[in-house]
Amino acid sequence: MRISQWSKVDTKWYLGVRCQKCGTPILFALDHSEGTGQPARAGKLVLTCSLAECRHQADYSTAAVSRFQKQPPAAKEAKSE
Ligand SMILES: [Zn+2]
Repeated sequence: MRISQWSKVDTKWYLGVRCQKCGTPILFALDHSEGTGQPARAGKLVLTCSLAECRHQADYSTAAVSRFQKQPPAAKEAKSE
């Protein structure tokens, strides 16, 4: 049996858009709805791609905002409270 030492896995949801140039997700905010409900509109949104080779800056004010997780959850319905 393997015991995971990863007690702090980042399972938070982030709001992000995909880079218009390379398609890399650009995360710009923490999604406080925890993956439920509609993503909040951010208003004026100018973002720069986080990819060093890209660095494409664009206005994403009208772009579709999606949710992203930095890491996929290990077990989807593993809620132990
Ligand atoms: Zn890019």
